[in-house]
Amino acid sequence: MISTKLKNAIRDIPDFPKPGIIFKDITPILKDAGLCSEVIEAFVLEMKGDKIDVIAGIESRGFLFGLMLANRLQIPFVPIRKQGKLPAKTIQEPCELEYGSAILELHQDALIAGQRVMIHDDLLATGGTVSAATRLVQKIGGVVAGYSFVISLDFLNGKEKLRGDSENIITLAS
Ligand code: AMP
Repeated sequence: MISTKLKNAIRDIPDFPKPGIIFKDITPILKDAGLCSEVIEAFVLEMKGDKIDVIAGIESRGFLFGLMLANRLQIPFVPIRKQGKLPAKTIQEPCELEYGSAILELHQDALIAGQRVMIHDDLLATGGTVSAATRLVQKIGGVVAGYSFVISLDFLNGKEKLRGDSENIITLAS
């Protein structure tokens, strides 16, 4: 259960990045160290001691709390990035977005086969991005042990896309 203060810190920006999209802006949370801690502790509480070996965060807003969460848990963080950003050998997966399409990449050596991975992003919309991230993790032998999002746009039914891979879907606000 998150505080009203945290809920209110998520700002709606209408018609960004294009008409018809209501963008959920988390930058007001980032300006408040106490709220950042609240987010991380809420994730830790929801994880209920799940065995997670690695947090994989999706570019770019998935890096913000993904890295903080990994550090809080004292486990590795690995970045999933848009095409052309990761410097070493990568694998690729295409994904469809709520506004556009992209190719996501993961370093080939990001994981050890069998590691239990929590995939993290700031927001779950249609689930296209995180489905591509799931395929990347699985391609190099990782086990998707859960998903975590600060926000879920439940009306887009993104969770339904993920349940086949893991029922463990943590969301803090909708
Ligand atoms: P999707 O693949 O449709 O689940 O879209 C999720 C990705 O797009 C995440 O990386 C989000 O950061 C971003 N995103 C999609 N819709 C929004 C929105 N309304 N507000 C903020 N970010 C969004």
